[in-house]
Amino acid sequence: MMLRNIGLDSSARFAFQSHAHTDHFVSGEVIFATKATKYLSHLRKGGFYREVEFAKTFYIGDFKAKLYPAGHMLGSAGIKLWLENGTLFYTGDTKWFKLRTAEKSRFPKADVLIIEATFGVPSFTFPSPREAEKKLVAFVEEALDRGKRPTLYVNQMGKAQEVMKILDVHGITVRPSREMLKVARVYSKFGVKFGNITHEGDVVLRSYRSPKVENSLSPWELTVSGFGRLKLSNHADFWELMKIIEKVKPERIFTVYGFSREFSRILTGLGYEAHPIDKDSDIYGLLF
Ligand SMILES: [Zn+2]
Repeated sequence: MMLRNIGLDSSARFAFQSHAHTDHFVSGEVIFATKATKYLSHLRKGGFYREVEFAKTFYIGDFKAKLYPAGHMLGSAGIKLWLENGTLFYTGDTKWFKLRTAEKSRFPKADVLIIEATFGVPSFTFPSPREAEKKLVAFVEEALDRGKRPTLYVNQMGKAQEVMKILDVHGITVRPSREMLKVARVYSKFGVKFGNITHEGDVVLRSYRSPKVENSLSPWELTVSGFGRLKLSNHADFWELMKIIEKVKPERIFTVYGFSREFSRILTGLGYEAHPIDKDSDIYGLLF
């Protein structure tokens, strides 16, 4: 989105990048992001990053701004901006419940909310991360008890490290891909340590690319994703999104990504002023 000449997860001379997933990569003269997002992004791309700490006021162009942990993966952030006529908060990709490897999310009050809608329909109801964790560990332990080698399909950045940490806590060794290992090294720099990575690890971690893989899996293979069989998601489900809205208490809502149209329709039905927007929309034009 563009806010006058500032990019929010969009390329612009001054751009804010919420987190290090490639679909949120931006280019610009100066990219504002957390230190972890900078380090993780630099695994795959260049760019001049201006590091910003959570909860510290800074200026992006001539707007006062502050970052809040988004809870989606290490370093992920939402941004609050002070505009001429009120405040705006953009969530980026976000999670209400705490994951083991992401900072605990926080949400400020704001007049206008731009909220992700990846899972913005009630049919997406996920178990809590702790419940999902129990299911994951039970699956792995059953496979190992039967002498099978479990394989988990996970997103290489964020989800892989979350799963590695969960298994570490339960004393189970893992065999991640080279890319997952690179990301894990950056996580370690920020205090998220893994003591369970070995070449002969009990659990094989493979890159998850498409839900289509689901049909061709053996009983000892599992996809770990909001779209997969084990719903340990680093996105908010519909009900988490509603909690976030209650916390921000916005007068106007814009929904973006995923089920943005459906989510806006539902919110309108609940009495909110809500509109879907495109990830390339000019927000400023919509506000004033
Ligand atoms: Zn993401």
